[in-house]
Amino acid sequence: MSEPGLPFADVAVPAAYCLPVPPAVVRPIAGLVFHDSETATPARCHPDGSWHWQILRDGTLERHVDEAAIAFGVRAADRWRPDWVQRSPYLVSDVNWCTLHVEFQSCQADRDAGLPYTDAQYATAQALVPDLYARHGVVPIVGHGELQTDRTDPVAFDWERAGCGPFVAGEGRYWQGDGDDMSQVAALQAELDQAHGITATLQQQLDAVRAMLAQADSTIGALTHDVVPPLEAELESLKAGSDPTKLAALQTHIADLEDTIKAAQQVLAAAGPAPAG
Ligand SMILES: [Zn+2]
Repeated sequence: MSEPGLPFADVAVPAAYCLPVPPAVVRPIAGLVFHDSETATPARCHPDGSWHWQILRDGTLERHVDEAAIAFGVRAADRWRPDWVQRSPYLVSDVNWCTLHVEFQSCQADRDAGLPYTDAQYATAQALVPDLYARHGVVPIVGHGELQTDRTDPVAFDWERAGCGPFVAGEGRYWQGDGDDMSQVAALQAELDQAHGITATLQQQLDAVRAMLAQADSTIGALTHDVVPPLEAELESLKAGSDPTKLAALQTHIADLEDTIKAAQQVLAAAGPAPAG
């Protein structure tokens, strides 16, 4: 799975607190589950509870369990089982098999203070969800307490401020961004499509350059083997033409011809005027 496109801090999680799947197994991401930590400090994974992402009070994004691995976020969907939940091939709950878990640091004291979640946490959620959508597809978002009978988290969570749209029966909420429609998701998809288009164009251009190089190579080969040798031979013969010995021989030959012509003219003069007509 690709790396997220926003900054985050890595928090090491013991291997026993999650379940990696073999590289050949592609884990389906069919939904996102939101939680709150019920802790006054940043939560840490433990043998019975783990998650992929945590958003701290100051908006800091922490990565705990790698997205490729299964986190132990929901024991059972015994209150409500969304339509998209898939049967797990491993000894983990069906929900955990096919979801990513996002934890929000929040506790009773925060609710008592009238600030269950901070603006910074909602802002980070607004950035994280589209990033997850870009890498895993557009999937519904649900709360832990909606699935499991003995849980109520994320308590006092404002789904709309996190960017979620209305609850869709059987599925959950879809992230919609700041607006009240899917325009941001659509824009994101358009950007991805455009990026794929650019990649394809670059590939075509690269192929064209390769073809030109191959063509140039064969042209150079032809020049080397077919055209250059005769030119070289001609050059050699031109050089030979300016050989002083050969030129001297040529001058002597021309002088001999002149003498022959003069002798012929004297013979003609002695024979008298040329006949008229
Ligand atoms: Zn929870």
